[in-house]
Amino acid sequence: MIHPGVGNPEVQEIAPGVFVITKLVHFFAKIGVNAGIIHTQESVIFIDSGMSAYSGEYLWNLAKERMEGDEAIYLILTHKDTDHCFGMNEIRKHGATVIAHERAAEILQGASNLSRNLIAQRIRKKFHPEDMLGPVVLSQPDQTITGDTTLNLGDEIQLLAIPGHTPGDIAVYHPRSKVLFTGDAVLEGMDPYIRPDSLSLKTWIQNLERLKDLDIEWILPGHGALSKPDIIENNIQFLMSKQA
Ligand SMILES: [Zn+2]
Repeated sequence: MIHPGVGNPEVQEIAPGVFVITKLVHFFAKIGVNAGIIHTQESVIFIDSGMSAYSGEYLWNLAKERMEGDEAIYLILTHKDTDHCFGMNEIRKHGATVIAHERAAEILQGASNLSRNLIAQRIRKKFHPEDMLGPVVLSQPDQTITGDTTLNLGDEIQLLAIPGHTPGDIAVYHPRSKVLFTGDAVLEGMDPYIRPDSLSLKTWIQNLERLKDLDIEWILPGHGALSKPDIIENNIQFLMSKQA
């Protein structure tokens, strides 16, 4: 049985060794939160870690089923928000190198610890928070990027710096499977979420425009269903409609 602090995850293998996970627990959004796992000859790359320690543990166990044991482990955080970072320690403690945008790193620990307390307070009304969040432990990334960065981790992994939704968003593009993981820069099934700390909509839109140059088969948004690349344009149109 899956722990209630994981939600009702759905797992799809969309290319050999490339997994997308949707509907991980989200304590406020019914739509859940998403994550990805890429297995290469030499590495396992996690993209985001869910909103609870239980989600992070679930993602680790899912990947472990097909690991040989000598892979290098990476966790790429698409941005610093609680629903994508709270599971991080359950992957990091197995030796993962954590990578994030420099601006996400600046904010991650202090702001997220504050958010954790707020979330725990709100969960407490219905549940015991430790039963739902698990042992959330946040920490600074091991590596940060400020601009687009290509990594060779067995497969080529492109990290695209696309600030907008937050000051430090990263999209992850995997050329072998033509999958783009966008974090919350692109959403499906809900309008793009303009946060108090979002950058100008112009910057956000310009960064989304850059994504349209990629050869994309699938997009895994931060929330919502696995999608086709036309959702980028849908998100751009919404943001344009909100521009003053
Ligand atoms: Zn999110």
